[in-house]
Amino acid sequence: MNTGLSEIRINQEGYAAGLPVSAAVLATGPVTLKNAAGETLRVFSFDPPRTDPASGDQVTLLDLGLLEPGDYELGNESGFRRLTVRPGIWDRVTHALIKGLYYQRCGCDLSPVHAGPYAHPACHTAPALDWEDRSVRRRITGGWHDAGDYGKYVGPGAVTVAHLLYAWKLFPQGCSGPLNIPESGNGLPDILNEARYELDWILQMQRSDGAFRHKLTKALFAPFIMPQDDHEPEYLMPLSFCATGDACACLALASRVYRPFDEAFANRMLLSARRAWDWLQAHPDFIPFMNPEGVRTGWYRGHGDSDDRFWAACELFAATGEKQYQEAAEKLFLAGQQLTQFGWADVAGLGALCCIFDLKENAGDVLGMQLRGELLRQSEEALTLSSASGYGTGLAPDRYVWGSILPVMGGAMAMIMNTLLTGRQDMRNAALLQWHYALGLNALDLCFVTGFGERSVLHPHHRPSAADGIEAPVPGLISGGPNNKICFPQTKEKLGEDIPPAKYFLDETPSADTNEIAIYWNSPAVFVGAYFNALSRS
Ligand SMILES: [Zn+2]
Repeated sequence: MNTGLSEIRINQEGYAAGLPVSAAVLATGPVTLKNAAGETLRVFSFDPPRTDPASGDQVTLLDLGLLEPGDYELGNESGFRRLTVRPGIWDRVTHALIKGLYYQRCGCDLSPVHAGPYAHPACHTAPALDWEDRSVRRRITGGWHDAGDYGKYVGPGAVTVAHLLYAWKLFPQGCSGPLNIPESGNGLPDILNEARYELDWILQMQRSDGAFRHKLTKALFAPFIMPQDDHEPEYLMPLSFCATGDACACLALASRVYRPFDEAFANRMLLSARRAWDWLQAHPDFIPFMNPEGVRTGWYRGHGDSDDRFWAACELFAATGEKQYQEAAEKLFLAGQQLTQFGWADVAGLGALCCIFDLKENAGDVLGMQLRGELLRQSEEALTLSSASGYGTGLAPDRYVWGSILPVMGGAMAMIMNTLLTGRQDMRNAALLQWHYALGLNALDLCFVTGFGERSVLHPHHRPSAADGIEAPVPGLISGGPNNKICFPQTKEKLGEDIPPAKYFLDETPSADTNEIAIYWNSPAVFVGAYFNALSRS
């Protein structure tokens, strides 16, 4: 099953000085660590490897401890793998994950100066039609293409922006470098410049009554053509409760972040957030978004909006200090929230980030002590899962879903929050294993970020990467990774029934089910990367 793959699995981008070095070994005999001169530094012998439940691999997770900066080789008679250890080693990949969002920009030229060979003219510039009233046309510009397709969705976009803004608030040293984007040098950190591109679009998606449209897409997914060649009409789709809650939360958060740089922009966002909240208050009974008849683009159906309302209430309380928002957030928290969820389907973890790291001592007892205790309790699960995995991956074998990279990164975010509160090194080290997973320490021996690592994803389900005539995919995009839960028939036909979940993956363009990219998978990886990048530079 692993024919041709190395018996040594590593973070293919290298390791940071000052943080423990780990590798997975698929061998029964000892492995040797050598220095750059080829001298043996240490021989690791270990107990018989155990079976990793998610991959079926016989594997040992090796802790090499702290290594001095330098180049090393780790291996056995079957071959050696080079390990590089130095401070700031993840700076490039972390910033590339942010720049990956620039390549998703819609409605503007990507110039050769900023996009190199991936430059292309502006796309999707025609006015959009209102799905519910075709006599209405509106010019709505900007935003990021959501994923492998060219749709733009408010909820997923709001979540992506929030990951970036919290990464910047908590770990600015890890993610504030220049990105070579059109706004570079304007006095704002580029991560905030990039996030603003989406915020400006989100603001345009609000209706006059305060609710937000769910999405701006075609009726059907475009074929595999470049975005500027996609001329099918775009539609402003109906409102949704989840989009309204998520936009409300994200704009209230952004109003705090951007206030020191642009007060008018901050005020506009806060006003928009308040209007969205008022709409939610006037519409207490959740109605799920349904794709209108004839529409087949992304559904992003939430199963409720308690988490969206909770996050929104937290952010509005933090932005205004007003009691009405505090009381709403407390009530929604006490109704039960999954504080370790950070994706579009459940956003309560973003509310927890707000309470713990923004509101802090102003949170009050419920959103303070009580919520912190709940986060500490819930985040234990990710550590338990990581400990049970042969590769240290914090994902249960039956949770390799479409976009499994999201729960892996979400687990890392929860463990990082725990570490920031408690200083626990076991939590930090387990979170680090999830970062290593994304960059190659996994059952596929694959770096999931395009353009990085010795063996990285080459054929993501991403229209520009397939249609631009350039062999290498657009860089800095993270693949969703293995998924055996909801698969295409052709994926099942190729992989069969016997492939274990952590290997249920095809590096092939048509396999959206295992190898799509998405803005909201890049962004939690930015959060995790920013934390470890900041640590490794300090
Ligand atoms: Zn576009």
